[in-house]
Amino acid sequence: MFYNSTRNKELRISAAEAIVKGISEDGGLFLPISMPKVDEKFIEGLQKKPYIERAADILSLFLEDFSYEEILNYAKGAYGGEKFSSPAVAPLVSVGEKFHILELWHGPTCAFKDMALQILPYLLTGSAKKVHNEKKIIILVATSGDTGKAALEGFRDVDGTGILVFYPVDGVSPMQKLQMVTQKGENVGVCAIYGNFDDAQNAVKSIFTDETVKAKLAENGFAFSSANSINWGRLAPQIVYYFSAYADLLQKKKIKNGEKINIVVPTGNFGNILAAYYAKQMGLPVKKLICASNANHILTDFIKTGVYDVNREFTTTISPSMDILISSNLERLLFLLSDSDDAAIRAWYQSQKETGKFEVGEEMREKISQSFAAGYCDDCRTKKTIGEMFKKYGYLCDTHTAVAIRVYEDYLETTGDDTPCVIASTANPYKFSAGVLSSIQGEIPLPADEFEQVSELESVTGVKAPNQLRSLKDEKPRFQDVCKKEDMIEKVYKMLGIE
Ligand SMILES: *Cc1c(COP(=O)(O)O)cnc(C)c1O
Repeated sequence: MFYNSTRNKELRISAAEAIVKGISEDGGLFLPISMPKVDEKFIEGLQKKPYIERAADILSLFLEDFSYEEILNYAKGAYGGEKFSSPAVAPLVSVGEKFHILELWHGPTCAFKDMALQILPYLLTGSAKKVHNEKKIIILVATSGDTGKAALEGFRDVDGTGILVFYPVDGVSPMQKLQMVTQKGENVGVCAIYGNFDDAQNAVKSIFTDETVKAKLAENGFAFSSANSINWGRLAPQIVYYFSAYADLLQKKKIKNGEKINIVVPTGNFGNILAAYYAKQMGLPVKKLICASNANHILTDFIKTGVYDVNREFTTTISPSMDILISSNLERLLFLLSDSDDAAIRAWYQSQKETGKFEVGEEMREKISQSFAAGYCDDCRTKKTIGEMFKKYGYLCDTHTAVAIRVYEDYLETTGDDTPCVIASTANPYKFSAGVLSSIQGEIPLPADEFEQVSELESVTGVKAPNQLRSLKDEKPRFQDVCKKEDMIEKVYKMLGIE
């Protein structure tokens, strides 16, 4: 199976090339030119398999230049052993009658990004061999908090790679920051930038597509790739867990094979929910994908109106990993829905670049609304939801997951659509202790120290914080630098030791 680009449908490259490159030179994103299809029997078969085999079955449909054995070995390396604290890897937890919560945060860094970033280093180094890449691959990451840490952990001390992470200086939670600045490994670098996530992501994207930069890197034996969800190798592993959740619902006898489900995803860069859309297009019985936003509800507005308008206030929320206005993976959805109309994509994104805005028209809006519903939830309702979930069910959820739960309840109320529903839970609550603790306790003053908040949250809820977060208390920060976004490329050269 070949891959093309959202901005050049005639392009033909292999999966391995797409993964090594990360982003297309034309500024577009790579995607497979056709959609692999599965049937009920395939889904039935997943039921009895462990996550590792579910992953190999699904990934091998997209990565035809890899053998099944290769992919199975990658999956074993990524999801096997003690890496994930749950033997199910991504357990589906039923809470009350209506919530089936897909917990995607049992990996080493306690957020869903591990689901893809544990396997991406295998896919990337495997791909590099296949395309005879001799250069050292430098993973350049812009992060709203969780990708950075998960990518650092995935790529640390992986031969033939280096990783550099940029995060918005005031745009991540204290725990997320601590996780990154204390990162161990010989091939890692971390730097804060003045600006928000969009600034970081835009700067990284333009570094990737800059010919001068590319040439200079090549001279020195380096090539860039991406671990953000612009990389197909990051997106494909995320498709797996939606199939896995469906298989688990079958096994728990909550649904019959072939019965449709809804899926709610707390959304920022549109990667996670796009993976769910791929699952649906492949044949997973899904009725509606419900896109949940926080106060930065640009995607909700887009799904409702067909107008994508970045000209708005950027809000810092208690769900910082969703504080994003320029949502990269939407471009892939638009390409799929417009029957690969790369000219339209180029025009829309040119317009976004020039005016901060584009409009896709009524026909596209109609197509979007066939598969997607959307809603949003501000910090106040997010906190209320965390409090209610804990009081009613004893279930402690993080701020991002709470956004999804609230938006789902709103959806239930307005539509009455009580189709069985999977809620993607994207982070462990202890990554966002301040927001979660004040949701449970009400607005009483919080201890200033992050780890005192953790202890207090443990004693109030009886839910234990994961060891890998608690142990950060004793770690020394290694990376303290902050730079301006204009200086990012200089910073990159410096970190790579290039003059
Ligand atoms: C990254 C992230 C999201 C948003 O996921 P996208 O794929 O960017 O839409 C939501 N919640 C958490 C905790 C995250 O880390």
